[in-house]
Amino acid sequence: MSSTMIAVEQGRETGSKTLPGPILLMGAPGVGKGTQAKELVKFWGIPQISTGDLLRGNVAKGTPLGKVAKEIMGRGELVPDSLVNEMVAARLKEPDAANGYILDGFPRTLGQAHWLDGRLALEAESLPVIAVSIQVDYNQLLRRITGRRNCPVCATIYNIYMNPSKRDGFCDVEGAALVQRADDTEAVFKERMRAYAGLTAPVVDHYRDLGRFAEVDGDRPIATIAAGIVAAVERLRK
Ligand code: AMP
Repeated sequence: MSSTMIAVEQGRETGSKTLPGPILLMGAPGVGKGTQAKELVKFWGIPQISTGDLLRGNVAKGTPLGKVAKEIMGRGELVPDSLVNEMVAARLKEPDAANGYILDGFPRTLGQAHWLDGRLALEAESLPVIAVSIQVDYNQLLRRITGRRNCPVCATIYNIYMNPSKRDGFCDVEGAALVQRADDTEAVFKERMRAYAGLTAPVVDHYRDLGRFAEVDGDRPIATIAAGIVAAVERLRK
């Protein structure tokens, strides 16, 4: 059993009362925010809200937002704050977000962070945000991003360098042909890193200055990182 699962079982047994509230998972593209969000969803039973996934859903459905976002995402740039904030506002109103949620990929700019802080401050019931930044070295990230392949049927994620499927190019579970995200190329990765350094690093500083911030080493096994995030959130919520 993984250490996260052990922690989940312990949480159930002790009836752990720590309400997670809103958690922001931060870090450069490819640090594993999506993977960690899924671990934390299992642990706390709260939803993952990934703005990248929501935007890709809009692109796939061809909504007006998706039509605007498609080109911007293809270049590795950021979709304007007003559009992303509006999309997040609609998602946060859904009932499953009442006890907390894991924001993955949002806020990515100071404008988004101030919008979110302001919105939560108006809700008497809401706990303040806790931001957790996952740290991974640049070259490791490049391999993670350019090697990433996804199963379009079951969403299993592989990596051709570090976690290849048994049959090259095909999902072990579904047998479906694996796909590469259009923005998982080296050129787009570099642009996304530039956007991260310029726009998102100040968001990290913002939550660090507020004292609601923790950093975890992302170059460790998935369950170890998840346990580190849970411990940091429990410490900061005390
Ligand atoms: P991700 O899946 O989080 O790496 O996001 C993929 C792409 O979606 C990014 O490169 C941006 O173009 C766009 N995107 C996702 N989240 C945001 C956000 N919070 N603000 C602006 N653009 C975003």
